[in-house]
Order: sequence, then C-alpha cells, then structure tokens
Amino acid sequence: MNAESVYAALPIPLQNLACTWAGRQRARTRFTPYFHETLRSWHRSGFGSAESLREIQQARLVELVRRARSFVPHYQAMKLGEPKPHPDPDRGIREILSMFPVLEKSEYRDAPESFIASDIPRSRLMKGKTSGTTGSALPLWYTPETLAEEYATVWRSRNRVGVELDDPHFSFGGQLLVPLRQKRPPFWRRNAWGHQTLFSLYHMTKENLPAYIDAMHSLPAVYVQGYPSSLHLLGRAMLDSGRPLPSGRIKAVFPSSESLLAFQREVIEKAFGAPIFDRYGTSEFVVSMTGCSAGRLHVDMEFGIVEVEAEEETEDFVRGPLLVTGLGNDATPFIRYRVGDVGTLAKKPCDCGRPGDVFLDVDGRVEDYVVTPDGRWVGRLDHIFKDQLDIAEAQIVQAERASIEVRLVPRPSYDERAERRLIKEIRARLGDEIRIDVRCVDEIAREANGKFRAVKSTVGRNVR
Ligand SMILES: [Zn+2]
Repeated sequence: MNAESVYAALPIPLQNLACTWAGRQRARTRFTPYFHETLRSWHRSGFGSAESLREIQQARLVELVRRARSFVPHYQAMKLGEPKPHPDPDRGIREILSMFPVLEKSEYRDAPESFIASDIPRSRLMKGKTSGTTGSALPLWYTPETLAEEYATVWRSRNRVGVELDDPHFSFGGQLLVPLRQKRPPFWRRNAWGHQTLFSLYHMTKENLPAYIDAMHSLPAVYVQGYPSSLHLLGRAMLDSGRPLPSGRIKAVFPSSESLLAFQREVIEKAFGAPIFDRYGTSEFVVSMTGCSAGRLHVDMEFGIVEVEAEEETEDFVRGPLLVTGLGNDATPFIRYRVGDVGTLAKKPCDCGRPGDVFLDVDGRVEDYVVTPDGRWVGRLDHIFKDQLDIAEAQIVQAERASIEVRLVPRPSYDERAERRLIKEIRARLGDEIRIDVRCVDEIAREANGKFRAVKSTVGRNVR
C-alpha cells in the first residue's frame, strides 16, 4: 500500500491529524528564521522610495552576476566582464542587463544542469519542477533562502491587508484530501497547526455544494485562498442560493495557481464579501507581482527585475512579453529569461501610492493573445464566449496576423443571428480589418496536458 491508500483508509480524525502533520512540515520549510528576517526587512524597503528600491535591485543584480560569471557554467561560457554598479541605479541596471542576451526557455530545457551554481553545496539544494514549453516538466533547483524570499513576497502583500500568518483560513488546493468514495460531508479536512480548513476540489458537485456553503458560514476564517476556478464554482452556488457571506466577514481572497479571469473576480468578490488580491509568480522563483487595493500588480522589486519587450506602446502603458531576472534564485540564476507571459506595464504610478514598477495586468502566455493587423495585442478573448448561450464551447485560432478562425460547438439554438452577435462581439475587440472565419465543429481538442485553451495564436511568438 502506498501513502495515499493508507491515508484514504484512515478514519477522518486521523486524516485530520495527517493534514496537521503535513501542515507543520510545510510551515517549517517555508517559515524559517530567514523568512521572518526577510519579511521584516522588505516591509521596511517596500515603503521606501522608487530610487531606494532600484538601489537594492542594482546591488542584488551585481552580486547575482558576479556569482553567475564565476560559478554557473551557462554564464561562465559567455566570458563576461565584471558588472559595474552606477550611481544612477536605473542606468546601472540597464547597462548590466545589456551584457546578457535574452535567455530562452529552450536553452534551459536543453541543459538545465549548466544553470546550477557550483558555489552552493549540492546538499543545500532543493529540487523542484517547472513546466517546459510543451507541458513537460523540467527539473529546477533552489535553496531554502529562495523559498523563504518567495514566501516573503506573498506574506508582505497579505500583511498589508491585515492578514497574519496564523489567521484561520479556507484553502482550495489540488490535493486529494477526501477519498473519492466518500459521499457525505465533511468534504474538508483540518490542518490544526496552520489554522487551515482544506476543502476537496473533487467533491464539488451540485448535490454537495450546499454542504460547502454551510461550512463557509459556520467555520472560522479570516481569509480564503485557492484555485479561482473552484472559488468561482462555489461562489456561483452561494449567490444562486442567496447565501453569500456577509460583507467584511472575510478580509481577503487570494487566488493561486491559475490565472484569474475577470468574470470569476466579480462572482468571487460578491459571494465572499471580500476583495481579491491577485498575485503573479512563476515556478522558477524569478518574479513576483502582488495585487493592491487599486487592482494593479506591483513588482516585488527586491525579488526580481522585470523588463517588457515592447510590442504595443501608448502614453499610458507598454505591453509585450516579459523578460525576468530573478534576484532571489541563487541556485539556478535566470537572467533576462523570456518566461513566456505577456504583461502590460503602466507608465504612471499607481493610485495606491506604492512605489516601484506596476502592471495593469499580466495576462497569460504569448499564445493567449491575438495580434491584430494594426499591431494591437488583445488578450482575454475568452470573455466573448461567456455570454454566448447558443455556443457550447469555442476556441479562437490564429495562424497569421490577417485572420482568425473561430471554432465552435453550436447548441441547437445556434443560428445566423447568434453568429452575427458573436462576430459583432469579436469585432468590438479586434476591429474591422481582421478576417473572421467561423467553423462549426463537433468538439474542441484539448491540449496534451488535458487543459482547454480558449485562444491559440502562433502570431505573437513569430514576431521576431
Ligand atoms: Zn497599487
């Protein structure tokens, strides 16, 4: 019997004990003395000026590059000069970064071991995984300090909205907590160490959702964290049954793992009576952006440097693929790494007053964007389909800038009028110039990893 089947055979109180034990182990790895020290220090630096944040970035970048050129085979081979800090940190950072070509995911995929820093004893390295371009997993190495810094970005942002480390909370993650054969509540388990109630995502059926809603109302929580798709499902049920949480009972909702879609935000905030604070991070520990009260994403400047390859630029923003340099990942340095996501950098400071770089959004992968003939990058097109009741499923595929193909699985009610309505919605976002081919299909193929993709474009990827 493996660990999972032993767990599944336990009575519920012992499963709770197992969850508590696992929670304690997790907390010990994450919330180390270095974590607390970093969090304290970043609370201070986060309230400093933009200039002082750049100075921290420059100092950490110089240290990273010095180590990379001496101890990391991938960078040693570049025969780089000594990085020189400049009295103007903005300029210094630009000059140092310009020594490096863009680092592609494929370079890491082909030789991940050549990114490991040899000055860190192997025994200190923790091994993780990151996803490759085709959905395959790649190995990744990091130190306990990197993990601590990642969590410092998370907890700085939570502390700012009044959420503390030992506050009770609800969690909607992907773990198999409740055996699938269990047909009655409780569809949740308790990690008493972390004051956490963990809900199963695999029992959220129509019949079972009322029990989840009861739990939302009766169990203690200061905040909620988890997959937005599951929070949306539950939130929808709470609203439909007229049982949202009273406003202010929960302080905040923190989505994780999936990107949050606009219509999910609306439902979740209403149902839980609390604001959502989004976060953008990557499994390589190279960048972190945390949401603010104005709904923007602020770069955690101490943790990483973000550049934008400008594809579209206006007075207010610059939009394009992100190049990230992780200041906290000392074991496998990623410098100017094209991480595969697209973001929109604001040119003006955020209304919330927090200094540093701020993004209007980070909106998924390059492939999630349609590029119009006039050069605009348009994301979030999945919104078009959410109100189209005559369509069961749809996907936009773009292979050239001049046109898109809309593949759709029609419902019986789908007719010419529905098609005109759909095209109008698309034109409202993409303009009149692009050609739109509508094709009805029986089903829409899933990706190799089983995920559904609303938009698939190869155009942005071929821009350069
Ligand atoms: Zn802000």
